[in-house]
Order: sequence, then C-alpha cells, then structure tokens
Amino acid sequence: MLSNQMDFENRIVAPEYEEMDRENELSLRPKTLDEYIGQTKAKENMAVYIEAAKRRGEALDHVLLYGPPGLGKTTLSEIIANEMGVSFRITSGPAIERPGDLAALLTNLNENDILFIDEIHRMNRSVEEVLYPAMEDYALDIIVGKGPSARSIRVDLPHFTLIGATTRAGQLSAPLRDRFGVVERLELYSPAELCKIVERSAGILNIEVEHEGAMELARRSRGTPRIANRFLKRIRDFAQVIGNGVITREIAAESLSRLEVDELGLDAIDRRILMMMIKNYNGGPVGLETLAAATGEEAVTIEDVYEPYLMQIGFLTRTPRGRCATALAYAHLGMMMPEQPMGECEQMRIGE
Ligand code: ADP
Repeated sequence: MLSNQMDFENRIVAPEYEEMDRENELSLRPKTLDEYIGQTKAKENMAVYIEAAKRRGEALDHVLLYGPPGLGKTTLSEIIANEMGVSFRITSGPAIERPGDLAALLTNLNENDILFIDEIHRMNRSVEEVLYPAMEDYALDIIVGKGPSARSIRVDLPHFTLIGATTRAGQLSAPLRDRFGVVERLELYSPAELCKIVERSAGILNIEVEHEGAMELARRSRGTPRIANRFLKRIRDFAQVIGNGVITREIAAESLSRLEVDELGLDAIDRRILMMMIKNYNGGPVGLETLAAATGEEAVTIEDVYEPYLMQIGFLTRTPRGRCATALAYAHLGMMMPEQPMGECEQMRIGE
C-alpha cells in the first residue's frame, strides 16, 4: 500500500496539483479568454455571459465548473474575474471548516466579486446551508442568542458570483447544484490543443522546442494541460543533458520513455490497472472497489484520475456490472484476447 502511495506521489502523469507545479502555474496561467486554449464550448458560453453581465453592470450568475483535475477550472475562473474586472477570492471546500468561516469570507466581498470554491463537493453540510440564502438572496441568516431567546437575523451581502469547481459533479447535493445558473463541463484536451499549450508555455519559459517535439509531449499528456506543462520543464533538463538544449521529437520520446510514460501517456500504474483486469479478471467486468483493492489505489483516485483518460482513449469501458478492458487495451499491452463464453465485456467488444 505504502509503495503505491509513493508511486502516486512521484507520478509525473498525476493530474493533481503538486509542489513541482507551483512555479509553472504562476507564470503559465493564461490571463484572458483569448489566451485560454481549447474548451471552445465553455469559453464561448462564458464570453456571452460575461459580456451580458458587464452590459447590465451586474454580478455574473453563479458558475459550476466540473471535470477531471488539471484541465483549467481554476485558470478559467481567474480569467472570468479578470474579464469582469472584479476581485478573485480563492478557497476550497475542505478549507471552510465552520459556517462562520464562510460567513467571514462572504461578508468581506465587494459588489460583483468572485468567490472561487475548489473541490466544492467536499464542503460540509452545515457550511453548505449557509450558501443557499447567500447564493439565492445575497443574504446570511445568523442566529443570535441561545435557547428560547435565540432569534435569526438576516444580514445583506454584496451581489457576488460563486464559482464552484469539482471533479465530481454527481456528489453535489441537488439543492446546491440547482443554485448554479451556469454549469459547464471541461473536457480532456486534444493533442493539437495541448501542442499549442506546450508551444505557448515554451515561449514564456524560453525553452526551445520543435513543433514535432511539442506534439510528442502533447500526445503523452493524457489530455491534461497541467501534465503537458510539467513534461515541458522536465524534458528541458533531458534536452540540455542528452541533446543540445532543443526539445526534438526524439528527445521528447526518449526522455518520456525513461520516465516510464509510454507513447499514449500511460504510466506504470495505468498499465498495472489494465493488466490486473486482463490477467485476473479476464478483461472484466470488474467492480470499481475490487479493482481498487486489487491494485492498492483508492477507488476515488481510479475514478477521477485514471479512468477518464483510459476511457477517452478507448481502453476501458463502464458497464452496469463493472469496468471492462477493451480490445485496444489488449493490443496495446500485447495481450491475447480471451477465448471464453460470451460475458458482458465480450458482447461489448463485438460491438466495438
Ligand atoms: P484545475 O483547476 O482544473 O485543476 P488549473 O486551472 O489549475 O486546473 O490548470 C492547471 C495548469 O494548466 C494551469 O496552471 C495552466 O498553466 C494550464 N492550463 C489549464 N488550462 C489551460 C488552457 N486552456 N490554456 C492554457 N493553459 C492552460
């Protein structure tokens, strides 16, 4: 178990924020919608809502952004504040421990400001209840006194915008979800979009990268800008030591292979998950909990971090009875498809 956790912490393809990203995130975050690459649908919609709110001189409607980690939820939220010309306050669900903490944040906002709550699905219920009247009526209900003499007083709040970010929209309670006027899902990026991101970042960091080199990094970045930027910085080191400082396709490919990231961006843990399904469960269906126990990873980590990409590249599918490895996964790992009576995964494979 411990060794798996360590693997995870050191995992260069982990899409979650890690200490090594700090410098990247500060300098590389796009500041305007024009600089924000990809996510066309979310971007175009937001541009309309921002323009409309600005023309009316009002706060933007509350926005919920969801999708896997590292796709640009925080970045887009900061851009929204920037484009609206308002202040941006940032916090996260687990950081708001008591209702009073949230009340303090809300009363310190100015008119039209944006309050960003990351991992909003991890906020506790008593805190969440403070949000309902705040989002709906821009008001706080505060209880003063104790026992029979306790009474509730209403405090007005400035008109603010709440932007909530989550990797799991399904875990939000219905009353909270319903209070967001705008709900946008961020998608994994295409290699072409990631290539643009790598080239933009290389420009900012003064790293020389050939187009084919950028493309190679992009193809292996699991659809995730945070990973693409992390690769760029790591591979710069390789380019300086094993080449002449320029990131070429060969250098990118060789360096990432040394880091155990294969040509599709899969690392040792992805391969272990797929191998486990293939070798121990005939390709599936395997329940999420079983898969978690067998690989030593947390079920939520498998669901939020590994699965989205494995599904995107068509290596894994979900059925009502569990996860299945697909023919593409067998081929990539050089495994033979099982000859067996038709199970649920087999039927699916025939339809693939
Ligand atoms: P999330 O909040 O979804 O976990 P972030 O907003 O922190 O992700 O994004 C991680 C990093 O990826 C940012 O620092 C930024 O440099 C980069 N990034 C994300 N989205 C984009 C984009 N659309 N265009 C360019 N860079 C991006």
